[in-house]
Amino acid sequence: MSNIEQTLSIIKPDAVERNLQDQIKSEFKSNNFEIIKEKKIHILKEEAEKFYKVHESKPFYSDLCAYLSSGPIVVMMLQRENAVLENRKLMGATNPKDAEDGTIRKKYGISIDKNSVHGSDSVENAKIELDFFFKD
Ligand code: UDP
Ligand code: MG
Repeated sequence: MSNIEQTLSIIKPDAVERNLQDQIKSEFKSNNFEIIKEKKIHILKEEAEKFYKVHESKPFYSDLCAYLSSGPIVVMMLQRENAVLENRKLMGATNPKDAEDGTIRKKYGISIDKNSVHGSDSVENAKIELDFFFKD
């Protein structure tokens, strides 16, 4: 049985700043993801705070929200079979130092905070996060 899903991917400011968006989009395409929607935006800190609300109690929350709103980002709706899990696998571990060879964070990530990409962590959160950026 097929299980086509959509998930949210964000190319974070560190990667956009280094002009890596085409290379990162190629990683998705060569791994059978279709980019259904995409836009380049620059969000306010208040919007980042809303997006990352789940991390509100974490010590890195304020820096994380300042960072995500520090420059342009590319937000995308990705689609493929098991997109949520497959995107998490392709991204690699949160800390690029721990990410496996061949993953996006291993290839492009700089540090745990500047780790180049965001990806939804569950089907439920993917729906919420896609609505956050793409609801008309
Ligand atoms: N993060 C950080 N310091 C930490 C843990 C996380 O700066 O100690 C940042 C990092 O950019 C990460 C984001 O917070 O991507 C969200 O954390 P999460 O645990 O959800 O990791 P992810 O789902 O992005 O792998
Ligand atoms: Mg997460």
